[in-house]
Amino acid sequence: MSTIEIKNIQILQEEKGIRKDVFIEGGRIAGIGQKPEGFSAEEVIDGSHKVLMPGLVNAHTHAYMSVFRNYADDLPFTEWLFEKIDPLESRMTSEQAYWGNMLSIAEMIRTGTTCFVDMQMFPRMAVKACADSGMRALITRGLVGSDRHDEGGIRRLREAFDEMEYAESLPDANVSFALGPHAIYTCGEDFLRYTAEIAKEKGLMINIHMSETQYEYETCLKEHGRTPLAYIESLGILDVPAILAHCVYLAEEDYAILKKPGVSVVTNPASNMKLGNGFAPVPRMLREGINVCLGTDGASSNNALNMFRELGLMTLAQKGASKDSLVLKAEETLRIAVENGYKAIQDGDLPGGRIEEGYSADLILLDEEAPNFQPKHNWKAAVAYSSTGYEVTDTIINGKIVMRDRVLTTIDEERVNYEIAKAVENF
Ligand SMILES: [Zn+2]
Repeated sequence: MSTIEIKNIQILQEEKGIRKDVFIEGGRIAGIGQKPEGFSAEEVIDGSHKVLMPGLVNAHTHAYMSVFRNYADDLPFTEWLFEKIDPLESRMTSEQAYWGNMLSIAEMIRTGTTCFVDMQMFPRMAVKACADSGMRALITRGLVGSDRHDEGGIRRLREAFDEMEYAESLPDANVSFALGPHAIYTCGEDFLRYTAEIAKEKGLMINIHMSETQYEYETCLKEHGRTPLAYIESLGILDVPAILAHCVYLAEEDYAILKKPGVSVVTNPASNMKLGNGFAPVPRMLREGINVCLGTDGASSNNALNMFRELGLMTLAQKGASKDSLVLKAEETLRIAVENGYKAIQDGDLPGGRIEEGYSADLILLDEEAPNFQPKHNWKAAVAYSSTGYEVTDTIINGKIVMRDRVLTTIDEERVNYEIAKAVENF
């Protein structure tokens, strides 16, 4: 881990026109404005003409799935998942999954994401890709099973724990783990209960798809006499901290459940719109004080892992759907995409998502002179409404520069593209 000095930079939260020096040491922000005693910079970045902000958190994705990008589009949800994606996924090799992960990470680093929450079929490949690239992630092995005796379900759970051990053998991997029962329509009641019991026993979080489609919501009401959210609560899934992806369909009584401490919701506007699933009630969730985060979902249902694009879409979609231009103001949008994501992953030792002393050095620099950022009226509005994601010039994760002047320092992109082209030859 090196020491870095970023000179003369505009910090996003600070007043326009005030420029400061920022000092990074030991993976954290060691000082702002004033050089810490005895600090000596191994690397210096010229911050003139750049804006500094914390990196974005992509709180829901499936990184290996970028190999399916632009492969199956404009289809009904069930046909897309069960007829197109599932059969290909079951034939996928670990090597293909590794390159899929690397491709996703390259796109995320380029567009300013410094941490992602992932549900994986190939968790080992995700761990390896994170260690190789320097990316930070919370990884969950996607779990599917009928009950606690289901052999496939038990194998997947075992794999989840094997990967946690494997990660410990890689000192460079900035990864943590949670348990990832896929959804209520792919996991049986007893399997969900069993997963919750194990999570509680081992002190792990849970990451699950929740109330994504109207069909899921109505089927659950019919079969279990409760909403999907009330159903998982009754099985103990929310007895541990949990990250719930989607939550598009909610009943009045669901909001109280979402307010439980440790529960976070991830909204995925592009995926929800593209698959025809509608709009999550984000303004209402925010009014209720629920920790709402932002995710892209996988590249086969989005088709980009670009969080700047996602935050722009979220704001516009929510203002449009609620017919209210006052919902999701620029500042709130940025909080959702940055701070709330770090809050959701709950690494107590590692506060993230703010430019403050002691916070993790997961930072991005943006090109202040980009034409779409002119004139320089309001940096928060520029980032929330004008950015494309490709204004990011430098990305720092855990105090390490992983992109410098738009060149990735840990990933050979030519090789990634070559391997991806090879992987999809037989689709
Ligand atoms: Zn998903």
